[in-house]
Amino acid sequence: QVKNREVEGMMRRYLPKSSVEILHNLGLVADRLDLQLFAVGGFVRDLLLGQRNSDVDVTVDGDGILFAETFAAEFGCRVKSHEKFGTAVIVFPDGFKIDVASTRLEYYVSPGALPTVERSSLKMDLYRRDFTVNTLAIALNSQSFGRLIDYFGAYRDLQAKVIRVLHNLSFVEDPTRVFRAIRFEQRLNFKIAKHTEDLIKNAVKMDFLVKLGGRRLLSELVQILREKEPLQGIGRMASLGLLRFIHPSIQLTPELQAALEQVRYVVSWFDLLYLDRPYERWAVYFLALCEVLSPEEFWATCTRLAVSENQREHLAESRRQGDELIGAMERKLARQERLENSEIYFTLRGLPVEILLYHMAKSGNPETKRCISLYFTKLHGMSTLIGGEDLKGLGIKPGPLFRELLDAVLSARMNGRVSSKEDEIQLVRELKP
Ligand code: ATP
Repeated sequence: QVKNREVEGMMRRYLPKSSVEILHNLGLVADRLDLQLFAVGGFVRDLLLGQRNSDVDVTVDGDGILFAETFAAEFGCRVKSHEKFGTAVIVFPDGFKIDVASTRLEYYVSPGALPTVERSSLKMDLYRRDFTVNTLAIALNSQSFGRLIDYFGAYRDLQAKVIRVLHNLSFVEDPTRVFRAIRFEQRLNFKIAKHTEDLIKNAVKMDFLVKLGGRRLLSELVQILREKEPLQGIGRMASLGLLRFIHPSIQLTPELQAALEQVRYVVSWFDLLYLDRPYERWAVYFLALCEVLSPEEFWATCTRLAVSENQREHLAESRRQGDELIGAMERKLARQERLENSEIYFTLRGLPVEILLYHMAKSGNPETKRCISLYFTKLHGMSTLIGGEDLKGLGIKPGPLFRELLDAVLSARMNGRVSSKEDEIQLVRELKP
């Protein structure tokens, strides 16, 4: 078994000094309040794997909110508490957060009634978790600081690199765990245990996943697609027959596999450019997964998965626009027509990054890829040297003409027809009515 000193050694090795100090201080406050305090969950799992996890979860065997408030008052932190759940978040001045939960739940059956207090032990609390590797706890009180608590063989499973549920009804109880199992398997590079895999297959066969609402399914899917290497997770979803819960026509064909590999390539290329253009990486994979769906099916799928109204409009509408605009561009390219830089720019500028990356990945035409890449690397950041003030100086009144003239100058600039500010002013003189 792992000794307290070894756990403390790991903390010193893998956590910043300030975090170890915070853990000791949490323990001291718990001592004074006569509470038992434990670090639990993913934080402990990752610590023992030598990986840093910035989410610290602790649990006390009493009033979690009181504990958080006492600690916060002493160490200059803020507290956000959720009375209903008896949980709190301690927020440090630098933004570092600690989630505090309680193994003791107090709730009021009716207003004014005495609280019903449900005392649950740490063991019960940990038993409710998804997989053994998430059931480890570390004592933080000063007398026992660093003691590893392992009720369910978690340490053995961590070493064997296995994802295992705690009981046979786990996936029936909560089908989201099917997706969580896949996510942890891929992220940690573990293997889902044989019996656990059989339970997943059974849950899929018995259609338990249908019980899962669209919103929760989407949230799990997005988390898998947000992982660093989502392809393996998608492969695992396919082999376990889970893609059909997104839409029955989605199958991991060799074409889809190739398209997803292209997405991976394009997305890493884009990330390396360090452009200041935020985008949702998961959405590029999602678009590729939904390639076979018609616009109507795509819209219906987004609705069923409770994609937010904004995002659904954004994705579905720009998916349609992208098909249209980039389709037209590809037809020109196929006819060997030369596209000027300005035409590429004005075709692509209204489309979101996600759609552009998706088309870059799916297009079989290297010219299309080149055009989109040129748009990102060069054209998108270009602007004219002259501005509104210069136009006013030329006697032009602000109005729609302003935009037209500036766009014309920008086009000329992109196509290499003007280079200096004087060139641009000269061009405006020629163009203005
Ligand atoms: P991540 O790095 O993805 O945040 P994590 O292990 O911290 O990994 P969370 O999703 O933040 O995962 O969940 C925190 C803890 O709550 C987990 O360690 C897990 O034991 C438990 N948990 C989360 N979701 C479930 C679930 N559906 N069923 C049971 N336990 C769950």
